[in-house]
Amino acid sequence: MPRGIMPRRPGKTGRHEGARINRALATKIAAGKSGRARASLPNSKSAASPKPKAAARTAKDYNPTSPERVSEILTRLDQLYHAVTCALTHKDAWQLLVATILSAQSTDVRVNIVTPDLFRKYPTVPDFARLEPQQLEPDIRSTGFFRNKSKSVVGAARKIVNDFGGKVPDNMDDLLTLPGVARKTANVVLGTWFKKAEGVVVDTHVQRISHRLELTKNDDPKKIEEDLMRIIAREKWILFSHQVIWHGRKLCFARSPNCAGCLLENICHAEDKTWSTVDRHPGAKA
Ligand code: SF4
Repeated sequence: MPRGIMPRRPGKTGRHEGARINRALATKIAAGKSGRARASLPNSKSAASPKPKAAARTAKDYNPTSPERVSEILTRLDQLYHAVTCALTHKDAWQLLVATILSAQSTDVRVNIVTPDLFRKYPTVPDFARLEPQQLEPDIRSTGFFRNKSKSVVGAARKIVNDFGGKVPDNMDDLLTLPGVARKTANVVLGTWFKKAEGVVVDTHVQRISHRLELTKNDDPKKIEEDLMRIIAREKWILFSHQVIWHGRKLCFARSPNCAGCLLENICHAEDKTWSTVDRHPGAKA
């Protein structure tokens, strides 16, 4: 290879390479296979040179949930995940509700494999309501925890038919009366289908990343949701949930997050980062 075009190894600090890797990875995300994560790329200046206010504070001044820092996090998530939405395939509120119940302890990819056949076999809510849970089990077995999920889906269908005229309710209180539905599932249905911002979806990705970004110190999903609702403007709740979930899938993995390719890198002080240009904060981890 001629001199001068040898690939360079990342420097010890990685500062210069970071911007390059960030941009390359963001491009990859923008061109994602599903086409869902359409990122508008930040210019390299913004990726490489964070606003001093947000990036370089002394330990004494540092407030991880200050409006300036939260705003910077939201801006960068917007840059990375401009117009993302729920990855679960659905055509109506009922299908989304079922898919969300099935996605617990499973993956969206697995659920999207299962649901097309499921909804062909049982096209309406009353079709599900007429089943015994055991009849549903073979159809959803591959999503895991299929006995409990069958009970939840059939129970939810019966309640919707009996108490809500066959229509999925569009408010938090009624949704929470359905078997197998807690705030996470209710927030997915309300935000994604009904476009109602009643809360923030707190799933495993949102929990992990909220800890790493020091947006909460709580472990209980309900308290994490309250913390996020307090520091994020209501009009951003729905998009923020989707963006963080996508971030968890694309970069901020539970194990070995891809920090070298992350646009949030220089404002993230997670203890379990795999690469860092800033100090790490003890306790800020998944
Ligand atoms: S832990 Fe790494 S991947 Fe996750 S937000 Fe921080 S820098 Fe990004």
